[in-house]
Amino acid sequence: MVTPLVEMDGDEMTRILWKMIKDELILPYIDLKTEYYDLGLEHRNETDDQVTVDSAEAAKKYGVAVKCATITPNAARMTEYNLKEMWKSPNGTIRAALDGTVFRAPILIKGIIPYVSNWSKPITIARHAYGDVYKNVEIKVPGAGKAELVYTGADGTQIRETIHEFKGPGIIQGIHNTDKSITSFAKACFNYALDTKQDLWFATKDTISKKYDHNFKDIFQEIYDAEYKDRFEAAGIEYFYTLIDDAVARVIRSEGGFIWACKNYDGDVMSDMVATAYGDLSMMTSVLVSPDGIYEYEAAHGTVQRHYYKYLKGEETSTNSIATIFAWTGALRKRGELDGIRELVEYADKMERACIKTVEDGRMTKSLALISTCKNPVILNSLEFIQAIRSTFDSL
Ligand code: NAP
Ligand code: MG
Repeated sequence: MVTPLVEMDGDEMTRILWKMIKDELILPYIDLKTEYYDLGLEHRNETDDQVTVDSAEAAKKYGVAVKCATITPNAARMTEYNLKEMWKSPNGTIRAALDGTVFRAPILIKGIIPYVSNWSKPITIARHAYGDVYKNVEIKVPGAGKAELVYTGADGTQIRETIHEFKGPGIIQGIHNTDKSITSFAKACFNYALDTKQDLWFATKDTISKKYDHNFKDIFQEIYDAEYKDRFEAAGIEYFYTLIDDAVARVIRSEGGFIWACKNYDGDVMSDMVATAYGDLSMMTSVLVSPDGIYEYEAAHGTVQRHYYKYLKGEETSTNSIATIFAWTGALRKRGELDGIRELVEYADKMERACIKTVEDGRMTKSLALISTCKNPVILNSLEFIQAIRSTFDSL
């Protein structure tokens, strides 16, 4: 390696897996260079969360990061970790710093059959992570009266629309988005489609929402025509826009193998539907891509708290490390591509094949055995599974 990866360590069971993965699957094969940031909750608390900000800055500097799952503090964690403050979600902090879009894709394995039987390739969901109903303002209307939408420009000029003349109680909601954020989202999606050579689908409800949703459609189209059309054609991929209800129907009938860009709420709902339909949360990968091409790889699942408490009691755990391994291979492959190190790309490809083959050969963790069609699966504990992947890797 020439350039270091930004390594963001995390919490609980995934922190335990993190070390096992490095010891068993990475360090024996790679002259690993990383700049290490400990985003474990204790260290975030000690540094007043400065370490999260620093790690995001490092990602901007080097371009590629790999992140372990981390605890987002809530009231229970305040006492459990004796926190000075209820620190914000590290993922939120990093996403804001990189202005990124999150892409989530399932890892497909023979024997784990999606509920939608024609989905033979992964569907990657790209969720816009800013605004709309997640930054809303709401009023519970007490009774008769007029609700208005008012914009006051910096120079004082106003735009005014009547929302509704209420005759009795009701509800109203104000939502917003910015052209800047939509532009970043669009660019991240177009770049990622080129990067992974997959078609890009995007859908909104622009027939009903003639200004709000239409603005999303227009920005995507303008950027596509101006900056990406030629490159998409050269790569043999397509940008496809349709209405959200039509998209849902087409997604179900499709064989997969494309990126589905979703507005914030659509992405929230559809990513859980797609993940569940493909089988298991522990088989979802996640990558944050910034509009200027910074990549942060992680597993989509959390810190697997319940397994960690068993581990602390000395009980055996059978936690699936595949999504975390794919975070490492994704980051190492990208580093290899950027720095022109073919061996790093080959290592990543081979390690991913080793993960898949191990499960397809019938050796897996408990949650996979529950959904696999494999006849007599051998259920391994957390470490044994990683060691089984290592022996598969050595045999390839
Ligand atoms: P979780 O860690 O994703 O786990 C939820 C359940 O899903 C687990 O209890 C387990 O089910 C199953 N599961 C998830 N990953 C698995 C794996 N790799 N192998 C086997 N089973 C797996 O979610 P959570 O328990 O709700 O959250 C725990 C912590 O993670 C929270 O503090 C939350 O803030 C944090 N979190 C972080 C991120 C992130 O950093 N990106 C994302 C989500 C949540 P069984 O217990 O039934 O076996
Ligand atoms: Mg959700």
